[in-house]
Amino acid sequence: MGVYGKLRLWREEQEVQFLLTSTNISTTAEIPRISEIQHMRRSDDMRRRKKIIYEIDETTGCFNIVSHCISNTGYPQMRRNGKALYIHRYIYEQCFGEMPEEMCVLHRCDNRKCINPEHLFLGTRADNSRDMKVKGRSTWGEKNRRAKLTSEEVEVIRTEYIPWDRKYSYRALAKKYKVHRNTILNILTRKSWAHV
Ligand SMILES: [Zn+2]
Repeated sequence: MGVYGKLRLWREEQEVQFLLTSTNISTTAEIPRISEIQHMRRSDDMRRRKKIIYEIDETTGCFNIVSHCISNTGYPQMRRNGKALYIHRYIYEQCFGEMPEEMCVLHRCDNRKCINPEHLFLGTRADNSRDMKVKGRSTWGEKNRRAKLTSEEVEVIRTEYIPWDRKYSYRALAKKYKVHRNTILNILTRKSWAHV
């Protein structure tokens, strides 16, 4: 065995020794297997649940979430038991009891970050989309989108497109032209604007 082989063995030995001292396990036989360690970590995560922190807006009375990320639908999301779930929905259930899956929790204040139970009310999916239409929101939350592209723009989009590019990927182009990603995809695959 060469020098490097010995060195590697020595390192491994050191690591085992470190593991033993840090976990207070006396023999190598008791070192938990990787799967067991992962399991321990997972259950540990579940015990350390992230606190929901909000700021109260004095003028509107909204309780604005500051501790959690906003999902791409615009609502702050949390994780419970490995599942993603809307915080405002969770709060509503905590306050008023569980509700059927198909019901939606809507905002009176039209502030999707708000979890003030008094600002929340229950509705159907149809209510939700009607509500969004009335308040001028579309399902993917782009208020200032343009309804139509010109044929010149469509031609430019096809020449501009570069896969995975930061500035010219189809997602980036969708942002640039303020249209939905699918619109760009349809243009590129000629599902739409085939005549251009
Ligand atoms: Zn509110």
